[in-house]
Amino acid sequence: MILFLRFPNDIVRGGFMTRVITFSRNVFLPLSTVCRNRCEYCSFRTPVQAGCILPPGEVHETLRKGAVAGCTEALFTFGEKPEAEAGFRTLLTAYGYRTILEYGEAMCQESITAGLLPHTNGGVLSFDELHQMRPVNASMGLMLETTATVHAHRQSPGKVPERRIETMEDAGKLHIPFTTGILVGIGETMADREESLLTIRDLHRRYDHIQEVIIQNFCPKEGTPMARTPAPTTEEMCVTVSLARDILPAEVAVQIPPNLIDAALLIPCGGNDLGGISPLTPDYINPEHPWPGVEQLKDLVRDAQLKERLCIYPRFIRKGWYSPDIDALIKQLEQKIQVRSW
Ligand code: SF4
Repeated sequence: MILFLRFPNDIVRGGFMTRVITFSRNVFLPLSTVCRNRCEYCSFRTPVQAGCILPPGEVHETLRKGAVAGCTEALFTFGEKPEAEAGFRTLLTAYGYRTILEYGEAMCQESITAGLLPHTNGGVLSFDELHQMRPVNASMGLMLETTATVHAHRQSPGKVPERRIETMEDAGKLHIPFTTGILVGIGETMADREESLLTIRDLHRRYDHIQEVIIQNFCPKEGTPMARTPAPTTEEMCVTVSLARDILPAEVAVQIPPNLIDAALLIPCGGNDLGGISPLTPDYINPEHPWPGVEQLKDLVRDAQLKERLCIYPRFIRKGWYSPDIDALIKQLEQKIQVRSW
């Protein structure tokens, strides 16, 4: 009998197919909360003000604690092109850096020294900027969000779909293992979601660089223009996750954020990755939604096997899509997660 594997991690055990659901353990480091965009659902962005930059000392301390807590990944984010906002450069210069990318690169280097693999999501970046960050990142990411033109993005130049597709395409040309995703419920239609997923699929067909696609549900936030916009229902999310699974090639994981929605209901729809959870740092984008612990993940995957992964998927390690500077660390962390038992 031949068993066809539908998901990238499925294994055959005792003649039966077992689903494998993956996750990673990270620390979340928002290097800056300043951003040139004005997305109408965002509660992360702040004006240029005291505390809008995470100081190097705090980054260092979080990395140190993350390594002690067994984390394998440092997720770096910063608002998109914060230098476009008046006064930001002056604040950054006080820490000795001219651009947020220069600061990000230095903190990625710190992360490698501390023993955590960096994964940077820095918004829309040019080919040269991606090239600059590649040697110090095991993987990178950018949410496509949607290919539709939505009202929520009318003051966000970085959310023009063509700009984001360009960054994703450049990442492919540079052989950067890449994470992307769609944001569900920001004014797009189901047809738009399908078009977004087809766009991601086509990019992956050309460059073979997409490792996971996040299907993220919009969560309304008090104090934002979209505070009264209803969140997508679980049924809507299930249909979207199924659509993603049907459209995307089997080797691309479909990720569900377990702190934002009942992942137990979406795994049967086709989700097979739970993204990064942190024992140490909050989800700064959705701070009202705490991360589940590993024990909770075990419960929600039920009969499937829960498996820890790194921020660079095994397929890309085999392909050698990373800098020699992080080779030893990747090998060391691969060993570490293999001996951990859940
Ligand atoms: S790009 Fe991100 S940080 Fe900037 S306003 Fe939009 S959601 Fe907020």
